[in-house]
Amino acid sequence: MSKEEYNPYSEFLLTIDEAGQKLGLPKDDYKILEKPERELKVSIPIEKDDGSVEVYDGYRVQHCNSRGPYKGGVRYHPDVNIDEIKALAGWMTLKCSLVDIPYGGAKGGIQCDPSELSQTELKKITRRYTTMIEPIIGIDKDIPAPDVNTNAQIMSWIYDTYSMIKGHNIPGIVTGKPRIIEGCLAREGATGRGVMITVENLFDKLEKELEGTTIAIQGFGNVGQVAAELLQEKGCKIVAVSDVSGGLYNEDGLDIVKLREFVGANRAHLSEMEKDSETQNITNDELLRLDVDILIPAALENQITEQVAKELKADYVVEAANGPTTRDADLILEERNITVMPDILSNAGGVIVSYFEWVQNKESARWEDEKTNRKLRNLLTEAFNQVWQTYEEKQVSFRMSAYMVALNRIVETKKIRGIFP
Ligand code: NAD
Repeated sequence: MSKEEYNPYSEFLLTIDEAGQKLGLPKDDYKILEKPERELKVSIPIEKDDGSVEVYDGYRVQHCNSRGPYKGGVRYHPDVNIDEIKALAGWMTLKCSLVDIPYGGAKGGIQCDPSELSQTELKKITRRYTTMIEPIIGIDKDIPAPDVNTNAQIMSWIYDTYSMIKGHNIPGIVTGKPRIIEGCLAREGATGRGVMITVENLFDKLEKELEGTTIAIQGFGNVGQVAAELLQEKGCKIVAVSDVSGGLYNEDGLDIVKLREFVGANRAHLSEMEKDSETQNITNDELLRLDVDILIPAALENQITEQVAKELKADYVVEAANGPTTRDADLILEERNITVMPDILSNAGGVIVSYFEWVQNKESARWEDEKTNRKLRNLLTEAFNQVWQTYEEKQVSFRMSAYMVALNRIVETKKIRGIFP
């Protein structure tokens, strides 16, 4: 399937359908999940620093709220489109159900290239977008969060804009805020921490040692960096990382702390880094095909395609990005006995800690990081064990097992509530 033919929402629908059939559910039980409950498209004009006017497309899709308010990140990227946002919203519905937190699924985004925008322009775009989606978001309605190219600063502007419109402070409108304005310090690293916990849970079950395990990570942003650093602390050897500019490889392991300092301080790309003699430049394509124990895609969708799946050499794929593996590629990996830990499980740490942040905001409370991280591990491990149990009982892949656990819970909720009116 070419890049143009790939449609993440169609892939989402096919996987839901397969899970429904494997659960033996009549189609009527989950038909409702085939269409998002609400899709909002907005236009975002801003006056740029040079005085010219640019108009951007923005979206907020609310997929399902049977189990709680809609919840999901906001993405700024040139490739943002409605089908991508619909798929990301659908995956959020499943993810929140799988880890059993009281949320439904949503996602938002703006089609823009933030690397070409100044801080002032980013602030304007964020404030205007917030104003445009304000009628459909709310602390008990829909709570945005960070995703690709959005961060704690952008969440702060969303919080401030929404509070100005409403006339009082409403920190719980958004999660992933800085600590100083009711954020939860552990949120920034939560998705990466969740990836590390998933790797640990998997290796514990398989009775394998993490020490010396070789890992390649595609995507060195919020999620990839934290996963790399925490897994290195556990004794893994991170031999390769990459970003949009390309990657770095060192067979003895890269110095992740140094790389983080370089990328973070300069908002720089890995390819601009001065390397030592043992480190080589590699492409993203090469990184995906490296002979490592674990491959962690932590960038975007549609990275592990059929062709990559045929040539991939890792024993395990732990999906930190949303939707990095296509359905066709998934089948090839299954045939080749390559274990895939699905995104809705392995990257759920972010939304779990978002939930903790929101609970604290609602109660004007502040938890210690130790409590947040302990509760994160408990929820993720509980979900992992359920996925493992269904995988063993039903003899399905981990992805199918995760979808089955998640879908079953949503269907049960929908049945108890009934369809209005
Ligand atoms: P980010 O913007 O912080 O980082 C993205 C990284 O991917 C950057 O290093 C970027 O250069 C790289 N990248 C972009 N395009 C690439 C390409 N074509 N090839 C290789 N690298 C590329 O984003 P993030 O928050 O780390 O999100 C990464 C993934 O994790 C996304 O799929 C996101 O949906 C998912 N995710 C994020 C969170 C969260 O809390 N931030 C939670 C759950 C899932």
